[in-house]
Order: sequence, then structure tokens, then C-alpha cells
Amino acid sequence: MGSTRDHRLAGRIGRLGTETAFAVSAEADEWQALGHTVYPFHLGDLDLPTPQNVVEGAERAIRDGKTGYCPNAGIMPLREALAADVGGSHGLSLGPENVAIEPGGKPVIGKFVLALMDPGDEVLYPSPGYPIYESQIEFHGGVAKPYGYVPGADDFELDWDSLERQVSPHTRLLLFNNLQNPTGAESSPEELERLAGFVLAHDLLVLSDEAYWDIRYAGTSRSLASLPGMAERTVILYTFSKKFAMTGWRLGAAIGPRWIVDVIARLNVNDESCSNHFVQYGALEGLTGEQSGPREIVRVLRERRDAAVDILTTIPGVTCYRPDATFYLYPEVTGLMEHKGFTSYEQLRRTALEETGVSFCTRLHFGRELPGEERRYVRFAYSGISTERIEEGLGRLKAWAEA
Ligand code: PLP
Repeated sequence: MGSTRDHRLAGRIGRLGTETAFAVSAEADEWQALGHTVYPFHLGDLDLPTPQNVVEGAERAIRDGKTGYCPNAGIMPLREALAADVGGSHGLSLGPENVAIEPGGKPVIGKFVLALMDPGDEVLYPSPGYPIYESQIEFHGGVAKPYGYVPGADDFELDWDSLERQVSPHTRLLLFNNLQNPTGAESSPEELERLAGFVLAHDLLVLSDEAYWDIRYAGTSRSLASLPGMAERTVILYTFSKKFAMTGWRLGAAIGPRWIVDVIARLNVNDESCSNHFVQYGALEGLTGEQSGPREIVRVLRERRDAAVDILTTIPGVTCYRPDATFYLYPEVTGLMEHKGFTSYEQLRRTALEETGVSFCTRLHFGRELPGEERRYVRFAYSGISTERIEEGLGRLKAWAEA
């Protein structure tokens, strides 16, 4: 069927964005199908297996008949276990009433916005950032107000100028992703404190996207929700996707004040009724059972990070931090693009794919560019490619850059 009936679509569909990393992935697959070698650094998916005890927990649940509907906010033992786990790691007193189980972390974004933003309200969100923020704000009739990051001594830092410029009396929400996709940025305690002050001063409600909380190689994760005055105005986006290599299982949670979580659970009733019943028993086993699975995932990812950073930092015209968390690198490639004579991101991305097989996303896949952005960046995800292939692919990229 053609698209001749587009004029019958609802107006809001024109404001619905997408996750263009999936398009890069499809393009890389096409290139590979033509017989070329591809080194996949484009998608934040994991090529590692879900821990065996999680698989067995879900299998057992299927055999035990956990195949009907379950409560809209999720099974009670999982809500209790998550409240204890996240409460413990965040220093918060949480109960099951603070937890709504969701079919992934991603649905929390749209439901948070839908629950708390009226059309015309302004919402602060990071750009570069996870592209679904911008899409969901605009789809639901809000005004998307991007804030940025700037390079610091050994990590990216929040761009306070952009935050101060974008906030107004109409701003209702702040979407914040510490341990950030795509930059790998992590806020210092001082930066988190300053942000909490900003939130209070402007009376904002916060979505704290903590998708990468447990994907860390040194230090301890910190949350904005743990700071004084924040818990009562913050919803945490939790996901099982990354920690337990469960991206395709689709399970996450919204964790926060009961008055918001209750509304999110009511949105569940209207959307999917409940998250997959037996999958929740697998996740319960993951949270409460033995932990060698997630430890092994982090061990492998750390090895990959080091292999990738070790090579990227030797490529002329490329600079790259070594983030302690996430599985992303966000190297600056301004010099490389100048050296190659490339004027557009797409020229860089497409030529690198065709001449080296290395496939990655660029700044453009993570929201609109902000005024005054002069430096050029690309994103490498190392979650779906082995250390050996990282070395091979980035070795090729290096030779190509030097040519
Ligand atoms: N938030 C961020 C920052 C992400 O990068 C992702 C996935 O890549 C998600 C949320 C959602 O992941 P999921 O829906 O698999 O939990």
C-alpha cells in the first residue's frame, strides 16, 4: 500500500520522532548482506547471553502456569525486591507502592511525560541524548527545550549556560540521564548538588533515567533522587535490559512517589494491561539470586571499553574519554573530519562504513544540534562486538584515518 492516505493521519504523528540508530543498524545489515565485513558499533544492544539463573527463573514460571495476566503494576515479589534493591543503593525508603513494572525502561519516558506535562508545557532534556525524550515531549504537545554537555578535564560536564538559557516559568519537567547515552558522562557530586538546587529553584519534576546504573567499571553510581528534596519529585527509570543483558525480554520499572507511580500504573491498564508475567519471575531471580551473571557482563564490557579507548586515542584527529560507566564512547572527531575533508556527519559515517566496515552513529542521531556547537562527535557502542573485532575494526579505522 502506498502513502496516499497520509493526510488522514492525526496531526500529532507529524511530531513523532524515532530512534535513528535502528536505521543505521538496518543500513549496516544491508551493507553486510552485499558481502562486506561490518564492525557493529552502532546499536546499544548486547551480544552477551542473559544469565542462566534468569532464564531458568522464567522457564520455571512458564511451567508453573504464570502465563495469564498479572497485576497492572507488576507482581508483588518483584516490586518488593526492586524497592529493596533501589532503595538500598539510593539510600531511600521505598516500598512496592513506589514501583510500577513496565515492559522496558523506554515506556517510562512517554508515561512520565503523559502523566505530568500538559500541551504547551516546556520540558528540559539533554541533546545529545536518548532521542526518545525529544520525540515523546513533542508527540504529546510539549515544548522540547534541549540542554547540552561541554567537554571537561576528563569527562563531559553539564552545560549550565544552556540550562539557564532554556528554563522559564513554563518549564515543568527535567529529563536527566546521569551515566549518559551517548556521551558516557557522569555528574560529579558537586554537579548533582547544583542540579538539585536548580530543580528546587524552578520547582521542576524530574525523570532520572538510570538505564546504565549498574554498568560501571570503577566507583559508585550516584542519583539525583538521593539528594535532599529530590525523592518526592523524581521518578527513576529502571531497566533490566543492560544489567542482565535482557534487552529483548522487555522489562523495566518506574520508581518514585506514589502519586505519580499510581498514574503510571493506570496508563499500564490502558496500554498493555500488564508487563509479561513469566518474564517478571526471571527478573526476580536476577535481582535476588546469585550475581555472577551481571558481574561477568561488566567484566567483558570493561575489557571492550579498554580495547576501544586504547585504539581510538591513538587515531590522529580523534580524542576520547575513558568513562567509568555505560557502554558508550563519544569521541570528538573534528580533526579527523578536517583531515579527510568531510563537511557533513553523513559523509563521514557513510564513507567510514564503506571503506573500513566500521559502523557507528553520529551526533545527529541524538537530538537536534544546539546553537554554537562547533565540535564534531560520533558515538561508539561496544556492547555488541567482541574485543577481538573491536581491535580489528578500529585498527582498520586508524589506518584509514592516517591515510
Ligand atoms: N534510557 C536510555 C538512556 C537508554 O539508552 C535506553 C536504551 O538504550 C533506555 C532508556 C531504554 O532501554 P529499555 O527500554 O531496553 O529498558
